[in-house]
Amino acid sequence: MTTGALLKRFYERSIESPEAFWEEQAALIHWEHPFERVLDYSKPPFARWFPGGRTNLCHNAVDRHLAERGEQTALAYVSTETGFEHNYSYRELHAEVNRFAAILQRLHVRRGERVIIYMPMIPEAVFAMLACARIGAVHSVVFGGFASHSLATRIDDARPALLVTADAGMRGGKPVCYKPLVDEACRLAKHPPQHVLIVNRGLDPSMARVPKRDLDYAEQRSAVGDAQVPVAWLDATEPSYILYTSGTTGKPKGVQRDTGGYAVALAASMRHIFCGNPGEAMFTTSDIGWVVGHSYIVYGPLIHGMTTVMYEGLPIRPDPGIWWQLVERHRVSVMFSSPTAIRVLKKQDPEYLKRHDVSSLRTLFLAGEPLDEPTARWISDGLSVPVVDNYWQTETGWPILSAMPGVEETPRKFGSPSFPVYGYNVQLLDENTGVPVPPGQKGVLGIVPPLPPGCLSTIWGDDARFVSTYFSLFRNRMVYSSFDWGIRDEDGYYFILGRTDDVINVAGHRLGTREIEEAISSHANVAEVAVVGVEDALKGQVPVAFVVAKSALDPADAAACGALEREVMDTVDRKLGPIARPARVHAVGLLPKTRSGKLLRRSIQALAEGRDPGDLTTLDDATALEQIRAALARRPG
Ligand code: ATP
Ligand code: MG
Repeated sequence: MTTGALLKRFYERSIESPEAFWEEQAALIHWEHPFERVLDYSKPPFARWFPGGRTNLCHNAVDRHLAERGEQTALAYVSTETGFEHNYSYRELHAEVNRFAAILQRLHVRRGERVIIYMPMIPEAVFAMLACARIGAVHSVVFGGFASHSLATRIDDARPALLVTADAGMRGGKPVCYKPLVDEACRLAKHPPQHVLIVNRGLDPSMARVPKRDLDYAEQRSAVGDAQVPVAWLDATEPSYILYTSGTTGKPKGVQRDTGGYAVALAASMRHIFCGNPGEAMFTTSDIGWVVGHSYIVYGPLIHGMTTVMYEGLPIRPDPGIWWQLVERHRVSVMFSSPTAIRVLKKQDPEYLKRHDVSSLRTLFLAGEPLDEPTARWISDGLSVPVVDNYWQTETGWPILSAMPGVEETPRKFGSPSFPVYGYNVQLLDENTGVPVPPGQKGVLGIVPPLPPGCLSTIWGDDARFVSTYFSLFRNRMVYSSFDWGIRDEDGYYFILGRTDDVINVAGHRLGTREIEEAISSHANVAEVAVVGVEDALKGQVPVAFVVAKSALDPADAAACGALEREVMDTVDRKLGPIARPARVHAVGLLPKTRSGKLLRRSIQALAEGRDPGDLTTLDDATALEQIRAALARRPG
């Protein structure tokens, strides 16, 4: 049989007979009550997987393993920030999750109600997620790097009954206080939570408390003792969590995930893509605030009976070999990281790759942004471990394009995340007509619905937005749009070329240009603003802003421009957090626009990166581009 034939057959069956295919995969998880149908697709594009079936994510991730692997480590926690380490066995994890669930019940959090988890990388964050899943509360983890304004908009969208947080995180040895940001967010929000549960790590001795609202986790934990909380058997289609995407339009989109489909999709991916074995360890270097953290720090490895390694700290502290030390210590067999993280390590002495015994490691998976060949080669050669690039989105919850070594090993090409994954009917479509393009031609990466299990079921509270955002790119065809450009070669390998909309990727953190522009626009002296992502050797990209001031500001007046630049940066820090702060803020007299008034963002970006600005036939006023050029040529004030 030729290479790839097995994989091809596996894939084709998933597309041609999705119900038979997914019924088989569904056997990988525990169903308390069998589903009535595999798929209800009576209301396209809404796909309801396994309706009538009852299951629970927490049961599948924890309880189900107690009999066979109760003493095995479920969660291996390491913080190089605080020095705290602990291996939680499945039995211990079960006990902690039960206690947390009992606290939720004590605080009257009910099934279907939301809980926002705004926490650093500490074990309690995982307990909180699993406890929500246990009782059927819907968790929404908000990345700890977001500032109060971002947190407040998410609070108002999710309307949580409870917010769980910690006094502080730690980064590079310094405490980063969370609680003041939570207080401010609760003040800004129209619908603040009734209670705030605080894990006090003792990092912020001056932490203020709001009487009645604020509760101490340690006190609550001792109050509930060794309480046991029965699992709530949810319908497969009930929501498990909401995860907000960075949002290219000011209002973040709450990606809503179901329960049964997600459990099945993750269980299947652990076998066919990630190829971990129960009893082995998986180390995912993401954060619980991102989708990769949800799927492959928490749910995926635990559903599969693996040990998950959770790490708080930088990849280069105490030294750049720390990750490989963890691989050695926990005999990690599957590792998942991002190209940005690897680029950080690439600046360090390659000797660090050789200091530890990483022979347990079978594959390193990388996702989140395009993986360039030099980075892939550097890490693959340095560790003598194969690298697998996989492409997916918050929306899908698990890979869309990937090699699938668990189905069949196939040769890999640098720069390509290989092939469409089973279940995804991927097509590259002509941007204007929606017609599939031939190999070698660029097209929008689309997925013909129904989307497979595990993908978003809707946008939280906004079915219409789900349809209009993702399924309305083509007038005559209902196709899910990824908003990414792709191309396929003659051998069927896919390559991702970039986004059709504009998102900046700063060190793996995704920021919408629109979101930053909105923050900057709130500055009293800003009339207009354009933010573009500019290539950066270390961070991947950094935001750069071009601002038209309301006051008559002379762009050549270095002192005045410098003052505005600092003020704008402060505004962004306050509204979105320092991660979104523009590397430069340039004052200009006007911005380049099309005649229809659309900002020529791509041209600005091209100039900022020293490239040709491209097609300018629609440009309204040519002097605008000259101003951008002049601003870029001026030295920082
Ligand atoms: P938002 O949708 O809110 O603007 P986002 O798209 O930046 O946010 P994610 O869902 O985390 O947030 O990122 C998914 C995107 O990341 C993909 O659409 C793609 O552009 C990029 N991406 C992910 N993996 C890869 C990969 N392996 N190769 C190339 N690009 C990738
Ligand atoms: Mg996106």
